[in-house]
Amino acid sequence: MAEDLSRRRFIGVGSAALAAAAGLQIAEGQENKVPRSPDHHLPNESEPGPNNTTLDKQNPSSVWPPETDAGGQPPFKYSFSLSHKRIEEGGWTRQVTMRDLPVSRKVAGVEMRLISGGIRELHWHVGTEWALMLYGNARITAVDQEGRSHVSDVSEGDLWIFPGGIPHSIQGLGPDGCRFLLVFDDGNFNEFETFLLTDWIAHTPPEILAKNFDAAENPFANAPRKELFIFERPLPRPLEEEQKAAEAGTGRVPHSFDFHPGQMQPNRKAKGGEVKIVDQKVWPATNIAAAIVTLKPGGLREMHWHPNEDEWQYYVTGKARMTVFAAGGRARTMDFEEGDVGYVNKSVPHYIENTGETDLVFLEVFPTPFYEDISLAEWLAHTPARLVDEHLQTGEAMLNAIPKTKAVITP
Ligand code: MN
Ligand code: MN
Repeated sequence: MAEDLSRRRFIGVGSAALAAAAGLQIAEGQENKVPRSPDHHLPNESEPGPNNTTLDKQNPSSVWPPETDAGGQPPFKYSFSLSHKRIEEGGWTRQVTMRDLPVSRKVAGVEMRLISGGIRELHWHVGTEWALMLYGNARITAVDQEGRSHVSDVSEGDLWIFPGGIPHSIQGLGPDGCRFLLVFDDGNFNEFETFLLTDWIAHTPPEILAKNFDAAENPFANAPRKELFIFERPLPRPLEEEQKAAEAGTGRVPHSFDFHPGQMQPNRKAKGGEVKIVDQKVWPATNIAAAIVTLKPGGLREMHWHPNEDEWQYYVTGKARMTVFAAGGRARTMDFEEGDVGYVNKSVPHYIENTGETDLVFLEVFPTPFYEDISLAEWLAHTPARLVDEHLQTGEAMLNAIPKTKAVITP
């Protein structure tokens, strides 16, 4: 083994010695034989001509990728800042779908702002809706397949789930309405083409409407001819009063459609941050799993992958970089900040590092009821040390010192 190591070092000495002489870093690998400098001052690193310097500043890992990057797989980042914003009297909305970010085949996201009194019209859709309240307060309503109701008020940090096909609404409350994130388990989802109450009524013959409600005449003669979608109205009645009326005869949904992560302890807490995992184990109503991750400056969400589903990410606050290793010698690093969406396919390995000076908060959302991951460190810690050492030449002492349970966050 010692001989192997010294032979490898000897073979590498040519380029390493050159690099040392020139004060440069040279990495091995087919794309990286050209000289690069820590401050990018070399002739081959100059950037004459047009540069979008604002965008460049936000994407340092694209402008000067780490020397371990190679292959340039398609982007796994999109920003809500680039999305079309639909503006209505009661608020606004915008979305990031696979039409914007082709890699995000299984998940789409929507941001929405509702003013105080602003209503997201009664509607439903084929996919499941998972939500995080980002600011303010709202009242949500839903009715399940047995006529049981859910009416509750949600605030910043709260979650809700509306399973596919379950009709629901959201209304902004005082003092300043709300802003929230919606996540759908369908990459091709379209928030502008949901099943809307007014749209359906407007597209049903009046005599059918009359017959359906056993009325002499169409009771919906005054209903709007065009969808409302998001509109402004007075605030709802007191919560208990609306709950009681909605539950008449059928009761309440058996498992609450809302969830309050603020009331749960982190699953993992480390010097570098903490993570809360919210899946069907703690929230029986949900069929979408999520991890809410906070990383301190310099903290690392450790190298890992998810064997059961794709991961959709939303960056709530702070700055990060993520490298996605795509096999076949390909790896790409991208940078993220507030309002950005990231996507990692099932079983594809990655890490997320806080590269900013403030806390980084981001979501990992999975279109599956249960959270699963495999950590590089945990894998190596439970594989015979000799076998691993024969691959990586670390010495067995290093391998034996790896904690036996996954860190999730390091340090
Ligand atoms: Mn919805
Ligand atoms: Mn992950």
